[in-house]
Amino acid sequence: MPYRAEYIWIDGQKPTAKLRSKTKIVPDGAEPPIWGFDGSSTEQAPGSNSDCVLRPVLVKPDPIRGGDDVLVMCEVLYTDMTPHESNTRAACLETAEKYASHEPWFGIEQEYTFYKDGRPHGWPIGGFPAPQGGYYCGVGADEIWGRDVVEAHTAACLEAGIAISGTNAEVMIGQWEFQVGPLGPVEVADQLWMARWLLYRIAEDFNISAHLNPKPVEGDWNGAGAHTNFSTKAMREGYDPIIVACEALGKKADLHIKHYGAGIERRLTGLHETAPWTEYSYGVSDRGASVRIPWQVEQDKKGYIEDRRPNANCDPYVVTRLITDTVCSALEA
Ligand code: ADP
Ligand code: MN
Ligand code: MN
Ligand code: MN
Repeated sequence: MPYRAEYIWIDGQKPTAKLRSKTKIVPDGAEPPIWGFDGSSTEQAPGSNSDCVLRPVLVKPDPIRGGDDVLVMCEVLYTDMTPHESNTRAACLETAEKYASHEPWFGIEQEYTFYKDGRPHGWPIGGFPAPQGGYYCGVGADEIWGRDVVEAHTAACLEAGIAISGTNAEVMIGQWEFQVGPLGPVEVADQLWMARWLLYRIAEDFNISAHLNPKPVEGDWNGAGAHTNFSTKAMREGYDPIIVACEALGKKADLHIKHYGAGIERRLTGLHETAPWTEYSYGVSDRGASVRIPWQVEQDKKGYIEDRRPNANCDPYVVTRLITDTVCSALEA
């Protein structure tokens, strides 16, 4: 029987791209082929020359439709098969290949906020809930909104074979997190984009929308980030490379901040478990530093570091490319 393939891609919207998808019926026994779309409707082409190409890069079982149906994460190409200007995966792949011998691993903590009826889920009409403090990893109907969506999303990721590694309720009401990894620079980003699509799609069935806004509510409320945990083979085996990595990230702080997601200055204020975006720092156990060395890592004298700066709305292809490039080039120096 023919099956349904949901082709998912990243559009050309600026400053923050969004996901698009459409369904192709694929003949029995065939692989999902190269396909195309109207780039003039996704800010990826002018109307006079509107065709863009979708090339499958990751095919997984579709946990929503089930059966033989699949999800197909794609990259966008021009019709001459070169990477589209909006395609950040191609450069990420190039860097991953260049530094493959370092065996870089990433675990990304994706924070996000549920919205219902035009406001963060769980927020009263025209007012504020009780101040934050009890919601993080909370339990009970007075603290938790949207757990049914979270559970459905986690189950879907597992069924699709996405390397989801955990979930938790966050500090602000209606805010949650899931983690993907550890995986290589390209793989973690492919899977994170697919997991984001699953989140939006599953929340849709609950009449809830999920957003990656880095600072959903101004004032004394936590923003939403995408803490990026990173190690190379050398870092997993010794402590000196961990310090080299922290120092190297400091030398390129401006470049990283610029590409860690739109609106990063609104989130990295120095309050709410962030370091100010203008000042780079690293430290053991320090959730007020730009980069944290987990206490266990200092204890074991090996492991990984956590770059706490990326925004929830970052492009993981860009974040993993920059970290791989900055740290691996310093390790080689
Ligand atoms: P936090 O304590 O900051 O909330 P989490 O438990 O949410 O951390 O996320 C940690 C992430 O780091 C997970 O995705 C995990 O898979 C990943 N991770 C663990 N070990 C490594 C490693 N050696 N290299 C890269 N990522 C790692
Ligand atoms: Mn976490
Ligand atoms: Mn978190
Ligand atoms: Mn974290």
